[in-house]
Amino acid sequence: MNKTYDVLIIGAGINGCSIAYQTASRNRRTVVLEKNTVGAEASSAAAGMLGAQSEMEEYSPFFEFARRSRSMFPELVPELEEKSGTAVSYVRNGMIKVADTPEEQERLARMYAFQKRAGEEVEWLQPDMVKTIDRSIGGDYFGAIYLQGDGQVKAPELTKAYAGAAVREGAEFYEYTPALGFIFENGRVTGVETPQGRFYADQIVLAGGAWSRFMPPLGEELPPLIPVKGECVGLHSKRPIVEKTVHASDFYIVPKPGGSIIIGATEREGEMGKEVSAEAVQHLLHKACRLVPGLGRASWQYAWSGVRPQSADGKPYLGQTAFDGLWMAAGHYRNGILLSAVTGTWMADLLEGKAQEQEWIDAFSPQRLIHRKEEEIIGTDY
Ligand SMILES: Cc1cc2nc3c(=O)[nH]c(=O)nc-3n(C[C@H](O)[C@H](O)[C@H](O)COP(=O)(O)OP(=O)(O)OC[C@H]3O[C@@H](n4cnc5c(N)ncnc54)[C@H](O)[C@@H]3O)c2cc1C
Repeated sequence: MNKTYDVLIIGAGINGCSIAYQTASRNRRTVVLEKNTVGAEASSAAAGMLGAQSEMEEYSPFFEFARRSRSMFPELVPELEEKSGTAVSYVRNGMIKVADTPEEQERLARMYAFQKRAGEEVEWLQPDMVKTIDRSIGGDYFGAIYLQGDGQVKAPELTKAYAGAAVREGAEFYEYTPALGFIFENGRVTGVETPQGRFYADQIVLAGGAWSRFMPPLGEELPPLIPVKGECVGLHSKRPIVEKTVHASDFYIVPKPGGSIIIGATEREGEMGKEVSAEAVQHLLHKACRLVPGLGRASWQYAWSGVRPQSADGKPYLGQTAFDGLWMAAGHYRNGILLSAVTGTWMADLLEGKAQEQEWIDAFSPQRLIHRKEEEIIGTDY
């Protein structure tokens, strides 16, 4: 049986679910197709940091986009929790970014100066000051910055909350329903083929994370996406060990309400498998226990991995593709949980032709890279 909607979203990761929540709330008939289950991929692997300040050293549209998204959580979270019945454990516990190498110290000094200019809450901590913010931190380091405004959520729960709230607003979800290929009519993408039949919509949004380019017959004609696998380790402690999120140059420690502690994450470019290597577990535990020695007392829970969808220039692809009827919301790389809030409203605005900020339209357009050579794009910083 063929089905027809206003908006069809491919992928029930956090971004597909957030877009569905917004479009359904605006009374647009919305359907989400998911090849597995809601949040089955990167969105359930994430540590859940809402690090709007933690990666930015200079002004960019991306910085404003990230700040906007972070500012939406205090209002959005209670709304989603009430509509979905799912608690997402949102806390604003701040983040300490520790300089564990001289190079990282220089980078953090630049970040500190920029964040100050941008009017953000940020403190520079000399090595002897770090313990006054979180006394669990030991080991050797060259100072730190303290970002009071950054918070965190439980990412799998937030994904489910968006989905639950979207259903409450009238969206339909089809799990175990892979979109196998696009249907074209008169040069326009009008639907997708699935094992359960054809689904048609006025607007189709590709939100398939790192898998977004595997959609025949377009595939290679869509903007480039690089899979970057990340492995994590989960510990648990009944007694609090570390209070703040602690970030160092190549690992982080994220204490969750309830006693879980996430240590992440590796960056394996080009890898998509689910396995976790012994080397990754050893590296993460070694680094984390050296910086926060008390973690040695925590008990082992489990290890997991997920695949981050990285765009070619580090910014997400949000907007209309070069194909009529087809839109894209993918490439959120390390920030898809943070950006989920604004991705939902931004995509809903774009689909309705109501988006205002021209700077964001240009910066995130999936068509922005079409006329640039590959070597000019790779390595561009946001
Ligand atoms: C280890 C790790 C830690 C991270 N930590 C953080 C963090 O602390 N903070 C943060 O902001 N971000 C973090 N991220 C990044 C974040 O997880 C991602 O950016 C985000 O989850 C991407 O969401 P998405 O919805 O775009 O993609 P995904 O979550 O990958 O969802 C895409 C969905 O589309 C489905 N799909 C794909 N193709 C099809 C198809 N043809 N038909 C039907 N369904 C399809 C997939 O099954 C999947 O469910 C982390 C990522 C990893 C891996």
